[in-house]
Parts: sequence; C-alpha cells; structure tokens
Amino acid sequence: MTLNARLDHRNPLVFDTHELGRRPGALQRLPRTVDAPKDFGVKGVIGVPEGAPVELELRLESVMEGVLVTGTARAKAEGECVRCLEPLEQQLEADFQELFSYPDADDRGRVTAEPGDDAEDDEDRLFLEDGLFDLEPVLRDAVVLALPMQPVCQEDCPGLCSQCGARLADDPDHHHDAVDIRWAALQGLADTMKDGEKDEMSGDGPGPANAAEKQEK
Ligand SMILES: [Zn+2]
Ligand SMILES: [Zn+2]
Repeated sequence: MTLNARLDHRNPLVFDTHELGRRPGALQRLPRTVDAPKDFGVKGVIGVPEGAPVELELRLESVMEGVLVTGTARAKAEGECVRCLEPLEQQLEADFQELFSYPDADDRGRVTAEPGDDAEDDEDRLFLEDGLFDLEPVLRDAVVLALPMQPVCQEDCPGLCSQCGARLADDPDHHHDAVDIRWAALQGLADTMKDGEKDEMSGDGPGPANAAEKQEK
C-alpha cells in the first residue's frame, strides 16, 4: 500500500467520511457541484472543459472494511464529430461505485476476497486517509467510460466529401460526376499554372532588378 501526498480536504473532490462514522449500515447522501478538473474526458476527442460544472450525487455507505461510495456525475461534454469535425456538445451522465477501505481493515478485507485475486486487488484498492477519500481517479475513469470514443454530431452523419471536404449533412445533394473530377483536376492544374505565372510575374519585378543592381556594383 503506497499512499500519495496527503489528501487536502480543501480539494473539492476530496470527501470527508467523519460525519458518516464507522458504524456499518450508516448512510449519507452528498450532493455537490464541482469544477471539472483538467483533462477530464477522452483526450483530444471529447471531454468536460476544465472548470465547467460537474454535478455529483454521492451516496456514502459505511461497510465493515470501509466506505462504499456510489454516485452519478452529470456534466456537459464538448468535442468534435469524428466524421465531419463540427463541434458538438453532449450531456454526460456517468455512474460509479467504489469501495474505499480503512487502512487498518486490510486483514478483514482479505478474508472475504478470493485468495487468487489478492495481488490484483491490492493494487487496485483505494484507501481512506484520515477518513478522507479522493474521488478524482474514480470519477475520471467513470467519465472516460461514459463518453463515446468516436463521437458523432448525429448518428447518420455522412461526414465530409472526400473530394472537396464539404460537409455533406449541410448539402445532401452534393456529388461530383466522374467528368467533374477530371475537370476539377484540370481546373486545379490550370489554377496552379495561373498562380505560378502570377508568382513569376510578381517575382520578376524585384528579382532581376536586384540582380542587375548587384551586377552594377
Ligand atoms: Zn458530423
Ligand atoms: Zn465535394
């Protein structure tokens, strides 16, 4: 069991179980609205912006080996559609349940655990520290699980046109004929040539003039 830096009771995601007490069966309901921590979601895909309100409903239950925390988190997640790249918002609701064990209840906890699972369980086990627990890692996992890995603006988002990048949902009749593609390619080539000419022409002015100046010197 390795304890990290001591928990800070001023951290809004650190909860105090002293009021709940250690009598098994004791219950406490804790509603709380907190600011979303940094990187709260699936990085680069969708998440709750830092500082946005996260509504928590917690139910703390005193059990033999610790405090069983059951809860729901609600917040608004922001991201972008993986198909058409439009920004999107999604109401997030994440349920979670976690047991925070008393550090001194270690042995009692083991009696009920399957013997083979001990090593794994110990690594994953979370502990109360001076009656406090940090909900952040639990919440973070629950939120990531509740968010879509491939968010879309609408179930049937047709994405972007592979040829011109237009957003197809905005323009259902959008299409390119085969001839159009070739024409578009030619058109593109023509544009490039025109651009090239322009570049040369604009480059012509100072270019040779500079050279001439240099030659004169
Ligand atoms: Zn989309
Ligand atoms: Zn197109």
